[in-house]
Amino acid sequence: MPTYRAPVDEVMFLLRDVFHVERYNNLPGFAEASPDIVEAVLAEAAKFCEDVLTPLNRVGDKEGCRRNADGSVTTTPGFKDAYKKLVAGGWVGASAPAEFGGQGLPTVLTQAIREFLYSSNMAFAMYSSLALGAVAAIYNHGSAEQKARYLPKLISGEWAGTMNLTEPQCGTDLGQLRCRAAPQADDSYKITGTKIFISAGEHDLTDNIIHLVLARIDGAPPGTKGISLFIVPKFLLTADGAPGERNAVSCGSIEEKMGIHGNATCVMNYDGATGWLTGEKHRGLYAMFTMMNTARLSVGVQGLALSEVAYQNAVVYAKERLSGRAPGGAKFPQKAADPIIVHPDVRRMLMTMRAFNEAARALVLWTALKGDIARRSTDAKEREAADDHMGLMTPVIKGVLTDQGFANTVAAQQIFGGHGYIAEHGMEQFVRDARIAMIYEGTNGIQALDLVGRKLPKDGGRALQAFFAEVSGYIKEADAAMAPYVKPLGHALGELREATQWFAQNAPGNPDNAGAGATDYMQLFGLVALGYMWCRIVDAAKARTASAGMDEKLVAARFFMERMLPATATHLARIKAGAESTMALPADAF
Ligand SMILES: Cc1cc2nc3c(=O)[nH]c(=O)nc-3n(C[C@H](O)[C@H](O)[C@H](O)COP(=O)(O)OP(=O)(O)OC[C@H]3O[C@@H](n4cnc5c(N)ncnc54)[C@H](O)[C@@H]3O)c2cc1C
Repeated sequence: MPTYRAPVDEVMFLLRDVFHVERYNNLPGFAEASPDIVEAVLAEAAKFCEDVLTPLNRVGDKEGCRRNADGSVTTTPGFKDAYKKLVAGGWVGASAPAEFGGQGLPTVLTQAIREFLYSSNMAFAMYSSLALGAVAAIYNHGSAEQKARYLPKLISGEWAGTMNLTEPQCGTDLGQLRCRAAPQADDSYKITGTKIFISAGEHDLTDNIIHLVLARIDGAPPGTKGISLFIVPKFLLTADGAPGERNAVSCGSIEEKMGIHGNATCVMNYDGATGWLTGEKHRGLYAMFTMMNTARLSVGVQGLALSEVAYQNAVVYAKERLSGRAPGGAKFPQKAADPIIVHPDVRRMLMTMRAFNEAARALVLWTALKGDIARRSTDAKEREAADDHMGLMTPVIKGVLTDQGFANTVAAQQIFGGHGYIAEHGMEQFVRDARIAMIYEGTNGIQALDLVGRKLPKDGGRALQAFFAEVSGYIKEADAAMAPYVKPLGHALGELREATQWFAQNAPGNPDNAGAGATDYMQLFGLVALGYMWCRIVDAAKARTASAGMDEKLVAARFFMERMLPATATHLARIKAGAESTMALPADAF
């Protein structure tokens, strides 16, 4: 049975020593979140995740969800009670605006808690994540009346939310979407069509489910420009806002899938269901993107979270499992064999996971802090810069953290040898659960294209130039003792600049060059961002050398610089090879 300890101390170190969150006390919600309060909140969340959610993770995987003959869905035994506790603890909308019943806590804090939730039980945590996506869409695009009707219940967790984009013929290419919305005399619409793969589409955890649905209003233009966003509640609300009559939306089936069995992934049938437009007509994709950016960061956190829990269990096993002797001679001669943690190849895997997890967590919290600044600062310039950072970093966090997060669950499974492949230790579940994060919320290939095609050129490259300026400014000012860290970072930054330049010169004439190199560019970018995070961590650790664990950070940083960051050279070489050999064969040669 896997175990999990939420990394509360790690989060506190990042918030306090690396990002100096107390400097942002002027932002709404930050002054209330004093270090003591933050530590207490994290400790409370950790306890809930460790004691309640971790034991339910295997149960969710084994038992899954059940669709009943009447179309209702019963979740895994134990999920309902756990969900009640989640709601009672105020965890669902902790960072949502206070005017709608949230606590207005900084997202830099609640994003850390999301990591704990996903590590302990990703399938369970997704039910509340989707509600937060619905909150983001309605808060940013809904009418005052819609906000008042839906937000308080979504934020408290009494109601859940879903996002309905995907249809059988299209997931990435939403221009092909067919779901229809027929206008009614009373300003509502009748929604008709089939959505597939809808996470948390139907379940028994809440009194109502608020579906956010993309559909095409009758007569709307074809393609992405004719899509609108609708609120379609499972139960229509009565005049006093309570769930009333059942709407014509139902779960046709639950998808059988590779992982996250505890989350009901549903085929949803809309048979003339009543819905209301939210946001502007034909601008539904724009409105949905608000939701998707929140969701993409959250999915990136899933990659980190599964990497962390898999790592923790691999460490325990590597210290217990006896096999062979250390290459230089027995380290534990009194035992029948040495524990496998003495073997450099096992260490390679453990260190790779550790060096990724710590920097990835820093990258997530740094970006979440920028999100808080973008939403809460009174300074327009500061808000703009923070928003630029969020836009640039969202595809990097989604793509790189889920790719490497998945690779790390495989490495952790590898450390268990054959026992990792057997269900008993729970390692294969981490691999299966982590896999989806590379696919949904836009596949990682699409994240890479978003980065290269949209985020780099946006506003004349303003966001990218600001990132380059920050990292190169940091390198210039670093003292000589930082050389083992900043020198490799400087080299990697140079390669990232070179790759950017190469695209600028070679993509306009041949767009395949950008498409063929986009994933490598995203990975190269991620390595530079993680390398920068390691330098910031080292700085903070050096200032606290007397504290336990700080020397270990310097070692992990060195490992990252020496053994992970050099992959930038390979990515650059692949980018500069261009698209020629990738695209040379005609489709029928495959
Ligand atoms: C468990 C699960 C939960 C999900 N939850 C939800 C949900 O809650 N709501 C929802 O709406 N959807 C959900 N999805 C759907 C998910 O977001 C889509 O599966 C995903 O976006 C990919 O779409 P697709 O499956 O149609 O693949 P396709 O779009 O057909 O893509 C197939 C492959 O082609 C590549 N590709 C496609 N177009 C391009 C292009 N233009 N350029 C380069 N490469 C391209 C893709 O990267 C991919 O590798 C879920 C899916 C699963 C499996």
